[in-house]
Amino acid sequence: MTTFAELGLAPDILRALDDMGYATPTPIQEQVIPLAMQGGDILGAAQTGTGKTAAFALPLIQRLLPFANTGTSPAKHPIRALILTPTRELAIQVEESVKAYCKHVPIRSLVVFGGVNINTQIPFLKAGVEILVATPGRLLDHVQNKTLMLNQVNTLVLDEADRMLDMGFMPDLKRIVELLPAQRVNMMFSATFPEEIRKLADKILNNATFIEVARNETAVTVTQVVHPVHHERKRQLLVHLVKTRDLSQVLVFTGTKLGCNRLANELNKLGIHADAIHGDKTQQERIKALDAFKAGSIRVLVATDVAARGLDIEALPFVINYDLPHNAEDYVHRIGRTGRAGAKGEAISLVSESETRYLKDIEKLLGRSIDAVIVPNFEPGVADVPAFQSREPRQSSRSPERLTEQPTQRPTERPAERPTERAPNAPAERRPQRAKPAAARDALFDAPYVQRESAIAALAPDSAQRGPKRQVAALFRTPVKPEPTKE
Ligand code: AMP
Repeated sequence: MTTFAELGLAPDILRALDDMGYATPTPIQEQVIPLAMQGGDILGAAQTGTGKTAAFALPLIQRLLPFANTGTSPAKHPIRALILTPTRELAIQVEESVKAYCKHVPIRSLVVFGGVNINTQIPFLKAGVEILVATPGRLLDHVQNKTLMLNQVNTLVLDEADRMLDMGFMPDLKRIVELLPAQRVNMMFSATFPEEIRKLADKILNNATFIEVARNETAVTVTQVVHPVHHERKRQLLVHLVKTRDLSQVLVFTGTKLGCNRLANELNKLGIHADAIHGDKTQQERIKALDAFKAGSIRVLVATDVAARGLDIEALPFVINYDLPHNAEDYVHRIGRTGRAGAKGEAISLVSESETRYLKDIEKLLGRSIDAVIVPNFEPGVADVPAFQSREPRQSSRSPERLTEQPTQRPTERPAERPTERAPNAPAERRPQRAKPAAARDALFDAPYVQRESAIAALAPDSAQRGPKRQVAALFRTPVKPEPTKE
């Protein structure tokens, strides 16, 4: 087996890897590092969890070693490497890794992202940094403010390019690339390769070597299972799984921001410590939730796809898809949060009847079926009738599924993310898109949780008390298909 030393990395970098407990390179590192150290362009097909951050960061640092210096003059620390990521969370994590790899070398790194006061970032930029990790919008804010210069960049990394495309960053990326010196090394990583990503790669990369690791394949260390369940009983099943399997750290994905908030809220009311991260949360709120989750003080972190993108939580054992993603590739991204760098993980999907079409798409993408296991007492055809009835007077015009999945008024995270990032001199932690009309607020979100088990127990002895049973059964026979708007 190849060692990091055999890849030709400098002793100071090796020491940092040793400090971090990296024993041997992962497959992507083994392939990317030697090539990138030579200055070749790379197109990497690798998802988060494969060790791709070190794959691009280590050779980049190695190539900057001749410039490493302890000088205090900002002129001695121009930006020489630019790493772009789609989300703030990923940017933070990448920079944390870069910092750790640079522990024994005098190379400075910094992360800048939107949603926080731009002025707090300026002094650090002015002091000079060699490696800048940034989200595209905020980087352009700084360019516009003339608070950074990109004329000495010799390495560009685009991380999770497909997600940047999804989030609408393509025009920003093109603008940024125009601002860079033509002579540079480029590395672009993407888990998936839609047409636009291939075009972008053609535009940016020169004679790139294509390196593919587990493309569109879920990590072999991740066990996957599907639990078919009635949509109305998903929450109970989630609680059941968390409690009976004693899950102490689980990342749960929902399709919408409102569903995300509500689920976290309800779990807390049931005594399961949970928090939510999604596009309507401020950056500070997201970081706080993530830190608490990493530290183990939050048992369940409920997240939407956009917010969870790129999260790296050491040895995360469980990912639960409370809602299946409508885009099969998101499934691969989601379950890439677990089973990372060889650790074992389990991905559990709660699948209601109306989601079977999404499951089919996922299985098609994976090229195999996922084992379906019915959890006793959570058979897919059986709904939680009393609990639904208890809600109905307040929400009588809505279908049961829409009750749990009503989107907020904003269909995607992107329009909010980008103005947040782009607005120069934005005040700290403001939420520009957050002023929601009162009508968009779902009353259920604030309503006290009705514990279904007790409701069933109370009503079960006398089914006649269930009230308009036929009416409810009719609803289940003709369910309105849930169309949760994704972030
Ligand atoms: P990434 O795919 O870059 O997000 O990395 C996923 C996780 O694997 C991170 O927690 C890294 O710190 C860790 N990691 C990366 N490379 C190695 C390695 N060679 N040995 C052990 N852990 C690693």
